[in-house]
Amino acid sequence: MSVQAAMATTIIHRAYRLTLDPTPQQARKLSQWAGAARAMYNHAIAAKQASHRRWLQEVAFATYEQELTEEQARKSIKVPIPTAYGFNAWLTETRNTHHDAAEKGLLLPGRDGREHDPWMHEVNRSALVSAMRHADDAWTNWIDSLTGTRAGRKIGYPRFKKRGVARDSFTITHDRKSLGIRLATTRRLRIPTFGEIRIHDHANRLHRKLHTGTVEVTSVTVSRHGPRWYASLTVEETIPTPRLSKRKRAAGVIGVDLGVKVAAALSNGELVPNPRFKASHAKKLARLQKALTKSQKGSRNRAQIVQKIGRLTHLEARQREGHAHNVANRLVHTWAIIGIEDLNVAGMTRSSRGTIEKPGKNVRAKAGLNRSILDVAPAQIRHLLDYKTAWSGTQLVVIDRWAPTSKKCSTCGAVKAKLTLAERTFECEACGLVLDRDINAARNIAALAAVAPSTEETQNARRAAPRKPVSSTVKQRTAMKREDPPGSSPPSNGRTFHTVLVQVI
Ligand SMILES: [Zn+2]
Repeated sequence: MSVQAAMATTIIHRAYRLTLDPTPQQARKLSQWAGAARAMYNHAIAAKQASHRRWLQEVAFATYEQELTEEQARKSIKVPIPTAYGFNAWLTETRNTHHDAAEKGLLLPGRDGREHDPWMHEVNRSALVSAMRHADDAWTNWIDSLTGTRAGRKIGYPRFKKRGVARDSFTITHDRKSLGIRLATTRRLRIPTFGEIRIHDHANRLHRKLHTGTVEVTSVTVSRHGPRWYASLTVEETIPTPRLSKRKRAAGVIGVDLGVKVAAALSNGELVPNPRFKASHAKKLARLQKALTKSQKGSRNRAQIVQKIGRLTHLEARQREGHAHNVANRLVHTWAIIGIEDLNVAGMTRSSRGTIEKPGKNVRAKAGLNRSILDVAPAQIRHLLDYKTAWSGTQLVVIDRWAPTSKKCSTCGAVKAKLTLAERTFECEACGLVLDRDINAARNIAALAAVAPSTEETQNARRAAPRKPVSSTVKQRTAMKREDPPGSSPPSNGRTFHTVLVQVI
């Protein structure tokens, strides 16, 4: 038997990001396509809102006229909310006759009989359909949040995307038969209907993988970040099922406390420093923002300042992303089991001002803390660990957020009644241990991770939903108290899988 036949393979979802070098003419066209996708999204949202309003009116009418209770009326009256499915059919069937579409609530009042916008014919159909699907997702997320099906913070009523505010982007899903999205050469990306765009660097690795068939493209999202255009290719990649190296097995367990003061504290006593990009850019940014408020609206000077701010924030985001990748890579390539604490970044950074009934305490201090938490981006590192472990055979153990990892002594197990955030050193009254508070927490996390049951899940990179936290502490309590487990809300439908990451090549 050959070695290859014996080798087990796994399919993973990943994304390759390419920096594009469009010609000025192409860049304009990319903006137009993004504009069309945005218009389609807004159209879909408006149609949904209109149907929703009609339903509310009919419910009100029925309660008034037919003497139904509001609850009865809400249950008995149905007004279909248009979805991507309907819009798509509308695009196909009723290019010229709008009457039919208006009946189904796909057209907005007043739009009936109007000429189609020209972009409907020029832009790839898939870009429009994807935009409608995004609108579906926004709507479903809102409904789910309203009914309590969706975990996490309440999601607001779906809003329109404003030009210049919302990110310019469009998505095209791959048609396997047409081989639409592909690399024409290692330096040229072909987008169906659009044509070929030069790639800023090169995509040798991806080109080779496409050639050998280990990678299949499923979609491409083209988006603008600051002055640059990027293409993110989502692919299905076949990799040899990851196996642990001897070195990693010998290294064993590491506990990681993703934090504020340092990017990560490790249970082996190491502190991974925090790059603090924001601080280094803050001065320059503040100067630019001040200049912006003084500049005249519509002036050329103002446009230049806006561009500079865009570049700066973009640079900063890329640097932070690079750092997060480095931290995650090192962890994943060194240890067999990584223990981390379940993060609640939304909760950690929630506005410190509070509400009118419950004003926040220490607003200033907390605002500063929020800034530094966002600076470190622990959620980003956590997210990277999530998929990188799946590729490498390393097991990721997520420790319940309510486990007393900070307050417990990692040597004798005594639990402190109180430990404020200001106390950077853990001092145990019982055994006299004096240790950096984050390293103490990391050691507790490592201890919990070491006894957590091993899961086969790590091997299954193809799963659709993010993995469930492997909790080794009190579960019932979590069920009640946990409000916002990051990434724990499953995709709202079968279409979107848990995408992943961005690999810069
Ligand atoms: Zn102790």
